[in-house]
Amino acid sequence: MFSDERSRRVVFVSHCILNSNTRADGHAGVAGVNRRVLELLMQLNIGVAQMPCPELMCLGLDRGDVKGGERPVLLENTRIRAGMKSNRSAEVMDAMIAQVVAQVEQYVEHGFSVLGIIGINRSPSCGVDTTTVGNEEVKGEGVFIERLRTSLEAKGFYLNLAGTKVSQIDEALRSIRAMVEKSEATYAKAAGRALSSEFRDA
Ligand code: SF4
Repeated sequence: MFSDERSRRVVFVSHCILNSNTRADGHAGVAGVNRRVLELLMQLNIGVAQMPCPELMCLGLDRGDVKGGERPVLLENTRIRAGMKSNRSAEVMDAMIAQVVAQVEQYVEHGFSVLGIIGINRSPSCGVDTTTVGNEEVKGEGVFIERLRTSLEAKGFYLNLAGTKVSQIDEALRSIRAMVEKSEATYAKAAGRALSSEFRDA
């Protein structure tokens, strides 16, 4: 089954990696797609599963304030974080998270390699290594990523994560490569097989 052309490898990515139009006003660092990230994943023959944008779905495209783009990024992120902590946002996120977890479950059940989650550092929602709290960029996870990781772990899925930032793209690519290599090595070891050629040659 599934012995066609597919690589049977997938990563889950924050929505705005493939569509920067969903970013908060004033926060988009690329015109549409983060090409460098996509090119790396294409080179490694990894399928890209786009997660929904939590802030779009919880707060709207303007994040509930049409003047949000006039604030400095960290101040606006702090305001957005407060909105993402509401009970209503938690309900919306939990519905989205259930769908992501169900997808992970399907891939794992059918023997695919889920090589990790790629998020957006500094984001109050999708931060992996850093997020925004109290008008500062601090170490820690965004509200959505923390909730998602906890839900995955409750089902026994301990996925590796990589944080990215458009302004630090070389570092982001190194983190993604390290994440997928580590995950691929774990899958290969568990299956008693050699590393796939894309990873051997990397
Ligand atoms: S970082 Fe997350 S919440 Fe922010 S635009 Fe990207 S997908 Fe949406």
